[in-house]
Amino acid sequence: MPELPEVETYRRVADGALGRTIVDVDSPDAWFLKGGTTAEDLSATLVGSQFCGTRRIGKLLLLDVAPLAGAAVSPVVGIRFGMTGTLLVDGIDGVGPLLYGPSRRDPSWERWRVALDGGGTLVVHDPRRLGGVTLDPETSDLGPDALDIGVAALAGALCGSSAPLKARLLDQSKVAGIGNLIADETLWRASLSPLRSSVALTSTEVRRLHRHLRATLTDLMARGGSHRGDLIDERHPGGICPKDGSPLARATVGGRTTWWCPTHQA
Ligand SMILES: [Zn+2]
Repeated sequence: MPELPEVETYRRVADGALGRTIVDVDSPDAWFLKGGTTAEDLSATLVGSQFCGTRRIGKLLLLDVAPLAGAAVSPVVGIRFGMTGTLLVDGIDGVGPLLYGPSRRDPSWERWRVALDGGGTLVVHDPRRLGGVTLDPETSDLGPDALDIGVAALAGALCGSSAPLKARLLDQSKVAGIGNLIADETLWRASLSPLRSSVALTSTEVRRLHRHLRATLTDLMARGGSHRGDLIDERHPGGICPKDGSPLARATVGGRTTWWCPTHQA
């Protein structure tokens, strides 16, 4: 958390900052600036300009900046949200409390603040400080976005590895945007075990996984977040499969706590 659905919501929220002149940039927390970016870089690049576009690759939000006079290239601000980051424009975040974060707001948790002409703001609020802001972030290390990836690209992302299927899905360099909850929900819906060897999936299974990945993401965005899956309430000792009532299994897969149904996920 936040996973792809939350960051897609933040992207839509950030659309509200487009075309508004940036009058000030406050980067109070050097720890939150990543990739060698400094507070001075951000102020020099942004003040007097405007955000002119929003994009998302997986869980990375990208804000395109209109180049200042004389500059040939459009700068880009990349924002990562870690475990507890939210993005607010004019005080509105569009998501609500996150599963693993405090529900209250605290000014001391504002890691980055952009003041917009007319009194508005774009703010990154992150209690646990696991996110970050980068000017012109490297994106070549990210795989295709999980919402846009095609069947052939998904097959390519899975082949060549005997790693457990879930570990491969969590690898952002293979598919970008799948977090722990979405991986478990998707595999549960697709009736595939998280422990399966990635390379051993048949083409029929890859197509089934692809269909369920897209449907799960679309469904969770419509429901309001990655924590709105059908499996979520059963992710505890004694939890049962909502499809068939079997006791769920739990293990650490790909470094993350994983829940699945040994009866129908094969
Ligand atoms: Zn089941």
